[in-house]
Amino acid sequence: MADIDALLADLVTASRILAHEGICDAFGHISVRNPDDPSRFFLARAIAPELVTRDDILQFELDGTAVDDDRKPFLERFIHGTLMQARPDIQSVVHSHSRGVIPFGVTGTPIRPLLHSCGVLGTDVPVWDANDAFGDTNLLISSNEMGADFARTLGGARAALMRGHGSTVVGRSIREAVYSAVYLDVNAQLQAAAMQIGTVKYLTDGEISLIQSRLADAKPDEGYDRAWQYWARRADASRA
Ligand SMILES: [Zn+2]
Repeated sequence: MADIDALLADLVTASRILAHEGICDAFGHISVRNPDDPSRFFLARAIAPELVTRDDILQFELDGTAVDDDRKPFLERFIHGTLMQARPDIQSVVHSHSRGVIPFGVTGTPIRPLLHSCGVLGTDVPVWDANDAFGDTNLLISSNEMGADFARTLGGARAALMRGHGSTVVGRSIREAVYSAVYLDVNAQLQAAAMQIGTVKYLTDGEISLIQSRLADAKPDEGYDRAWQYWARRADASRA
């Protein structure tokens, strides 16, 4: 049996990190799959990420049905279950409206990693447009049908943008998902700045592959752990 208490404590910390690092504001959310029952996942009730505590976390079936809880869930909970349904490797999902990525979702200019820390994003960050399959909507993923369509666009990628809305990042752990969400926005901001100056030289496919191998081989306290420890301390300090 997994240590669910420790996992949910990390989920609370992750919510606070995402708020403190500017990835989430009043909106956005992070989930984690239940390691003891992969057909379920944990996600907070509808509440600003900065405010999430252990008591706010609900459990859901992959179709977005809450397990024995009638508190108000996030409208966009369907993002989490549909991605976990489509990709057994996904253990954690971050959805946000972080501002740096928005210009890339509406211009057709793709996000491409240009900084070593952003190699985690991989070679392809696709863009999903709700209008393509669903016409005019309020842009939010509010059904399993929309979530499944988004999952097809994400494919095997680490992150995908949603046109005029935000982005979603997946990971094989909470820490990998948080790291990828932070550096997706970092890359977007740096890429927008670099494109103002001149022609951008992006990471090569080979460089991205080597960066990802190094992260995969990281020992405890390295890589994702080191970033996590730093961000968790900053998020805690901001609450003192
Ligand atoms: Zn959203």
